[in-house]
Amino acid sequence: MKTYRIAMVPGDGIGKEVIPAGQRVLEALAAAESSFQFEFENFAWGGDYYRQHGEMMPANGLDALRAKDAILFGSAGDPHIPDHITLWGLRLKICQGLDQYANVRPTRILPGIDAPLKRCRAEDLNWVIVRENTEGEYSGAGGRVHQGLPIEVATDLSVMTHAGVERIQRFGFRLAQSRPRKLLTLVTKSNAQRHAMVMWDEIAAQVAREFPDVTWDKEMVDAATARMVNRPASLDTIVATNLHADILSDLAAALAGSLGIGPTANINPERVYPSMFEPIHGSAFDIMGKGLANPVGTFWSVVMMLEHLGQMDAARRVMQAIEHVTANPRLHTRDLGGTATTAEVTAAVCAEIGATAGKPLTTV
Ligand code: ATP
Repeated sequence: MKTYRIAMVPGDGIGKEVIPAGQRVLEALAAAESSFQFEFENFAWGGDYYRQHGEMMPANGLDALRAKDAILFGSAGDPHIPDHITLWGLRLKICQGLDQYANVRPTRILPGIDAPLKRCRAEDLNWVIVRENTEGEYSGAGGRVHQGLPIEVATDLSVMTHAGVERIQRFGFRLAQSRPRKLLTLVTKSNAQRHAMVMWDEIAAQVAREFPDVTWDKEMVDAATARMVNRPASLDTIVATNLHADILSDLAAALAGSLGIGPTANINPERVYPSMFEPIHGSAFDIMGKGLANPVGTFWSVVMMLEHLGQMDAARRVMQAIEHVTANPRLHTRDLGGTATTAEVTAAVCAEIGATAGKPLTTV
């Protein structure tokens, strides 16, 4: 029997609630499967670890992660620690350290979800946003001098390398090619940013030649926000820089009904290092410890993890269970207008996985 070694990094806030829920779903799946099992190791890194040790994770923490098949991550953020410390000290350290350069965020309106765009049918919104995950605006290059003086200067330098741009765009075209519509939109800002973003556009035109069956177009990031709202069906695969995609994917999650639903995969496509899967939402301290956190974003991330591990049937079985549960408004958490708790939604998804074990799959 195959054993997958999974690192669990709950992090902060509601990450500590949704990641154990994700583990329960994986355990329910393993109980219903005979061909594979999971071996979990928990890493209690994040804000509490920082208060004790002065860092968000140990210096050699990446070594422990490298030995795993995949990582399930919650969130990094703490109201008492500056955001740039929590982000750079944990999530970005893992993404950049394990060269997870493709951040993939699918968005769909799941059954039973009342999405805010009234003229948008569920079939009109089926996107996957591909975010460059290791450089660009989040390269970390820059600095501050003359701090505290009126002459203070601060810079954050967006760094784009030809290799970094080419590999994410090729990943995006390949993904678009694998989807039924074979449609890709490249998000840019090359009208205002006349160096790196012009290179970004030029490389896309070169990479596109390798994918003659993919139809593609270019959209300025500002226009892309309006197009997502006004013409959602005109989009399918969306490729954007680190910062642009960060913003667009929060908009996408909101348009699909809630920040609590969206999943993310941080992929190292060459599989030299493990990939990391996480809900799109953050630590949400306002609802922490109240059982209000919607675990669906974590469960959908678990589906992406299973797909990455090559367990396609298992992934479809979990997705089917999620959609069965979202279709029932009595199992909606507060962010979706319901009263169900994290534990109730988790139990319902686990029960559905158990109930469908051994039965044919009905959804694709
Ligand atoms: P961070 O600083 O870690 O990004 P944040 O609290 O600023 O965290 P998010 O966690 O992304 O930002 O969420 C914004 C708001 O959306 C939260 O305050 C919470 O009310 C709501 N929210 C986010 N995720 C969920 C969820 N899984 N279930 C229910 N509500 C959620």
